[in-house]
Amino acid sequence: MQSTPRVLVVGGGLAGLVAARHLAGGGVTVSLLERRDTVGGRVQTIERDGFRFDRGFQVLFTAYPAVQRELDLEALDLRAFAPGATIARPGHRSTLSDPLREPRAALSTLFNPDITVGDKRRVLSLWRELRGRERDPDAVFAADRDDDSTIDQFLRDRGFSDRFRERFVAPFYGGITLDRSLSTSSRVFEYTFAALASGSTAVPAAGMGAIPAQLTDRARAAGATIETGCEVDAIEHRQRDGAVTVSLDDSHSDGGTTDRDVDAVVVAADPPAAQSLTGVSTIPTEGRASTTQYYRLSGRTTLDTGRRLLLNVSDDGPVHVAPHSEVAPEYAPPDETLLSATYLGHREESDQELADRTQAALESWYPERAVGELEPVHTDRIEFAQFAQPPGVYERLPDVRDPEGPVYLAGDYTRWSSIQGAMESGRQAARAVLEDLSR
Ligand SMILES: Cc1cc2nc3c(=O)[nH]c(=O)nc-3n(C[C@H](O)[C@H](O)[C@H](O)COP(=O)(O)OP(=O)(O)OC[C@H]3O[C@@H](n4cnc5c(N)ncnc54)[C@H](O)[C@@H]3O)c2cc1C
Repeated sequence: MQSTPRVLVVGGGLAGLVAARHLAGGGVTVSLLERRDTVGGRVQTIERDGFRFDRGFQVLFTAYPAVQRELDLEALDLRAFAPGATIARPGHRSTLSDPLREPRAALSTLFNPDITVGDKRRVLSLWRELRGRERDPDAVFAADRDDDSTIDQFLRDRGFSDRFRERFVAPFYGGITLDRSLSTSSRVFEYTFAALASGSTAVPAAGMGAIPAQLTDRARAAGATIETGCEVDAIEHRQRDGAVTVSLDDSHSDGGTTDRDVDAVVVAADPPAAQSLTGVSTIPTEGRASTTQYYRLSGRTTLDTGRRLLLNVSDDGPVHVAPHSEVAPEYAPPDETLLSATYLGHREESDQELADRTQAALESWYPERAVGELEPVHTDRIEFAQFAQPPGVYERLPDVRDPEGPVYLAGDYTRWSSIQGAMESGRQAARAVLEDLSR
């Protein structure tokens, strides 16, 4: 009788966790090794003094097909942001909403002075053009599409005004793509615009870290073993018997290594680590950085933005400010307010200098009232939040089967930089392994 194949998954981000679950569900023996002490990779939440801090500002798009397939959304107890945003500049704030989903905000959207009537019409026709695309990410990000351009060009081609691009799209999509210049591929815009029109953006009541926690439970329930604090140093494919040897950094043996022989390996590490483990040169390693700082305000202070993001029209200061405890009261102790400000890039200023900048931005947006003293309580400077996605990048991304031998890739970098891309990649990698093992 043949023994059950053994598969090792390297990396416990969303891609690795989804791959482990599908592999275990497919009847193979699966171990996932994660080098950090916690799984989740780029999706983490820490809790301190009754506050919840996600690692960088991040949200779940509920319309993403992989999100709907891989997660039990009800169990995540989601707290949704309101559609649209508040556009903020010195001395002025205005509301932009989706009147179909939020009729109460329809009037303020209709008379929003930051958006011209023509742009409002163009948004509607874009909605008609793009709706439904969120259901088919493969078509939007297909490698053989030859009509990729920057987000900026895409909107210019459709007649959107400079004002609309600068006041709304630059800060809103700057926050999504971590690139305020709108030089990211228009496909990210197409896809996320469609996803925003049909679903919401939300966070679990327990923080974004509840997502990998649920995926871990599901992978374990399917039979996978998950080990943290285990770093893989090298992967070697043996021509002789077709197996793969994985060398682990063994901190318990004075910095020595231990080897494990398996039938296949899924490399679900972050892009730079995946490239150095597999040597696949097409794995993108240029990253986009961001800095998110969280602030406490005593008392439940409302910024009159409801559950909407505050977008900064100016490119000086944060790209946006998020009213976390308004969206999810569970993110702060009762009678406390939690806000965050996200800056693009890796900010070198001290935490206090950054807080002063945010304070100055908020005070300029709210000249008529006191905002209160922001107390910085947590700062995340994230060097590699997403891989850079200029036009044309999707034609060059690696396939899950690109490494030599029974070594596979899983990670956002095989599709596009997002929770959707990571989860879908994990599923595709597991499918490829199971197919090849059954031959
Ligand atoms: C600040 C920020 C904001 C974002 N905003 C959004 C958003 O709003 N919506 C959205 O959809 N996406 C967002 N993203 C992107 C999304 O989080 C990522 O695309 C996704 O989480 C990537 O998952 P992954 O599994 O591919 O990789 P990762 O999360 O990078 O996981 C890789 C794992 O491999 C481990 N590893 C690496 N090397 C080794 C080794 N040698 N041995 C063992 N383990 C190893 C790492 O420790 C890590 O846990 C954001 C990301 C960040 C950081």
